[in-house]
Amino acid sequence: MIYVDDYILFEPSVKPLYKKSNKDYWFLFKDNKLLTLKNENQVQIPRWEHIDDLNISIYNIQYMGAFCGYNCYCGEIVDDIWDEENFAFLDLKTLSKTVDENTYTLSSKANLLLNWLKLNQYCGVCGSKMHKKDSSSERALVCFKCGNTTWPRTSPAIIVAVTKGDKLLLAQNRQFPNRLYSVIAGFVEYGETFEECVKREVYEEVGIKVKNIKYFGSQPWPYPNSIMIAFTAEYLDGEINVDGEEIVHADWFSKEEILGMYNKSRSIGSKLIEWFIENY
Ligand SMILES: [Zn+2]
Repeated sequence: MIYVDDYILFEPSVKPLYKKSNKDYWFLFKDNKLLTLKNENQVQIPRWEHIDDLNISIYNIQYMGAFCGYNCYCGEIVDDIWDEENFAFLDLKTLSKTVDENTYTLSSKANLLLNWLKLNQYCGVCGSKMHKKDSSSERALVCFKCGNTTWPRTSPAIIVAVTKGDKLLLAQNRQFPNRLYSVIAGFVEYGETFEECVKREVYEEVGIKVKNIKYFGSQPWPYPNSIMIAFTAEYLDGEINVDGEEIVHADWFSKEEILGMYNKSRSIGSKLIEWFIENY
């Protein structure tokens, strides 16, 4: 057990690290929506004491590790009928606008773990059923037929705030609801460095070149198994010319313009925009 105050909050583990308690956290999903507790307008993760007497069937129960000394479990709810008024199912994007950083990160971890199990039910080599590896220290799925082993994998994606003078590059993605503006993002290709990916994505999507690419931060991104690696960069060369497929419109926006159209959330894209607002 290595929980150290606010230095190491989460201890990943396959087997329970602490004695089972009524205060243990339960991250339960149904159709990719998380079961949350509504408590005086605050959204919270249910503890065992909240769900113990609910008559629900949970499958795929996984031990995630411990947060601040409390065990964390995740699983999926089978039941179709739900009439508990103190609870609500929220998707993670909605959750990101209402909860604190730790709750959001833990919920993403839970979703990533369940997604990994869903996406790896069968062996990628021989097609046989995969089984949980019997080990107290390693989280893995193994094929009993051919021995293929798979571990939870993370696909990196980059996200970048590009500035030009006192303006920020924002783009409208075709797939975003309501055509919201956002910073540029995209998946890292095989064998690509993050810096190469930043240059390529910005060039592909809006036709400009960037310089001074700097690491900003990262965030698990469970859609279904990614991590966002965030950067800042400066305009180098070129005119905005959107690809017309993924991006329908892009432009340089001032701080004042952004303040009038921006919805704060726990997503790292939102943090990049906050960084711009605070520093420009
Ligand atoms: Zn196999």
